[in-house]
Amino acid sequence: MSTNTNHEQPATGMNRRRFTASVAAAAGAVAWRPGQASAASPDSDTILAPSRQVNIVRRVDVLVCGGGPAGVGAAIFAARTGARTMLIETLPFLGGVWTAVGVSHLMAGRGRHGVNAEIHRRLPVHEVFGRNIYAIEDMKILLDDLLAEAGVEVQFHTRAVAAAKDERRLRGVFTESKSGLEFIEAKMVVDATGDGDVAARAGCAYEVGRPGDGQTQPVTLFGTIGGYRGQPAKGRALVEILERGGWRPSYPHVTLFPQPGQPGVFVLMATQFYGVDGTNVRDLSRAETLGRQEIRQCVKTFRQHGGDDWKDVFLIKTGPAIGVRETRRVRGRYVLTWEDLDRGARFHDGIADITAGSNVHSVDDPYREPPPEAGRARPKFRVQPYQIPFRCLVTRDVDNLLTAGRCISGDHYALGSYRLTGSVVQTGEAAGLGAALAINQNVLPGELDGKQLAERLQAMRAEHLAS
Ligand SMILES: Cc1cc2nc3c(=O)[nH]c(=O)nc-3n(C[C@H](O)[C@H](O)[C@H](O)COP(=O)(O)OP(=O)(O)OC[C@H]3O[C@@H](n4cnc5c(N)ncnc54)[C@H](O)[C@@H]3O)c2cc1C
Repeated sequence: MSTNTNHEQPATGMNRRRFTASVAAAAGAVAWRPGQASAASPDSDTILAPSRQVNIVRRVDVLVCGGGPAGVGAAIFAARTGARTMLIETLPFLGGVWTAVGVSHLMAGRGRHGVNAEIHRRLPVHEVFGRNIYAIEDMKILLDDLLAEAGVEVQFHTRAVAAAKDERRLRGVFTESKSGLEFIEAKMVVDATGDGDVAARAGCAYEVGRPGDGQTQPVTLFGTIGGYRGQPAKGRALVEILERGGWRPSYPHVTLFPQPGQPGVFVLMATQFYGVDGTNVRDLSRAETLGRQEIRQCVKTFRQHGGDDWKDVFLIKTGPAIGVRETRRVRGRYVLTWEDLDRGARFHDGIADITAGSNVHSVDDPYREPPPEAGRARPKFRVQPYQIPFRCLVTRDVDNLLTAGRCISGDHYALGSYRLTGSVVQTGEAAGLGAALAINQNVLPGELDGKQLAERLQAMRAEHLAS
C-alpha cells in the first residue's frame, strides 16, 4: 500500500500527478474534460477523455458535498439561515462514519447545544462503557427527518467528482451517479466529504499524515455479530480467546458494543490496517478484503474457543464500508496546530470549544510502543480546552469553498482531537452558517466578521439547548 506525503500546492499552480484538475467553465455551458483529472499513479499511462456538454441539473445557494456528521450540521444551519441548500451523498443514507462504518456510539456531542443536542434528544441511546450507543437504522431515519424538517434537498447515490472554477471561485460541482455526469451550480460550496475531495479537485493545497513521513492513522472495518450470550466486553479478555485459537487481531483493544433493542447483537471492533491511503481506491479495496477475512476468522475463533457465551455466535454483516480516520487536511486561512491545543488557544472567531484529548491511533505496529514524536511519547494526550477558529474552514485557495469535518485546516495531532463526531458537527454548523451569511451579505466567507459569526452561531445553537 502506498505511503502518503505532505502536499503543498501553489495557489495558482496544479500538480497534475496528484491532484484532479479544476475545470474552467465557459459562461452558459459547462465543459467536462476529465482527461485533466487523472488520479492515477504518476507512472501510469493516460488517456484523454472526450470533452462534452453536461446538463446543469440544479442551481442552489449552498451545496454541501458529503452527508456525514459535518455535512449534516452544515446543511441544517445553511438551510435554517435561509439559503436554498442541497446536500449530495455518495451512499444511499446519511451519517458518514455514524452509519456507514458501524461506529454506533456518539462521542463528544453530549453537553453541546445545536444539532448535537437535537440528535441526543431524539435518538434512543443506551449507555455502555460510558458511551451513548444507538441503533444504526434509528440514526439513518433521524437524520433523514432532521434534514427534511430543515428544508434541505438531499440527493443520494451522488458523488462529487470535479469542480468548475473561474479564477479563485467555484461555479459548482460535477457529480456522477446512475443518472450520469451532471453539474450542480452553487454560490457557495461546503466540502464535507471527510477526504477534502472537492477542495483537492478544485486545486486547493492540502497536507496528509504525520510530519516527516506522511503516515496516517489506520483504517478499521467493523463487523456485526449475533448469538453472543455474554456481557459487553473489551480488550485483553477478548484477545485472549483469539490467542487460544493461535492468532492475534490487528487491533489489540477488541471491543463489543451492544445494539440497543437487539438481544445478542453486537458491533465488533477488531481490525486496524496500516499504511492505507484512504483516497486510493486500490488501497481501500485491499483493506476491505483483508478486513472481511479477519472478521470472519475472529468470529470462527470466538465460536470455537470462547466457551458457552460464544458457542452460537455468527456473523451478521461487515461494514458497510471501511472506516477512514485521516486523509487530506485542506489548507485554510489558519492552520490549527498541536501548540494551539497545548496552550488552550482561544480566537475571536472561535466556532467550537473542544475539550477532547488528541486520540491519534498508532500509525505503526500497535503491539509496540510508538516512538516518541516531538515530545509526545504516546499517541493519546491531553489538551487544554481550546477553540477552532472559523478561518480553519475557509479555504486559502478558493474564495467560495468552505470545509467542514475532519478535512479542515489543522496539523496531524490537532486532527486527532477535533475529528470526534460532536466536534465535526459543530464545524459543519459554522460552515453552513458562514456560507449562508456570506450570500446574504454579498461578501466572501473570508470577508465575514468572525466575531459576529461566532455570536450568531451561539444564538442559533441556543435554540436547541443540551439537556
Ligand atoms: C473506525 C473509526 C472509528 C471512530 N470512532 C469514533 C468514535 O468512537 N467517536 C467519535 O466521535 N468519532 C469516531 N471516529 C471519528 C469520526 O467518526 C470522524 O472523524 C467523523 O465521522 C468525521 O466526520 P466527517 O463528516 O468529516 O466525515 P465522514 O463521517 O467520513 O463523512 C463523510 C461523508 O461524505 C461522503 N462522501 C465522501 N466523498 C464524497 C464525494 N466525493 N461526494 C459525495 N459524498 C462523499 C461519505 O460517503 C460520507 O458519508 C471514528 C472514525 C473511524 C474511521
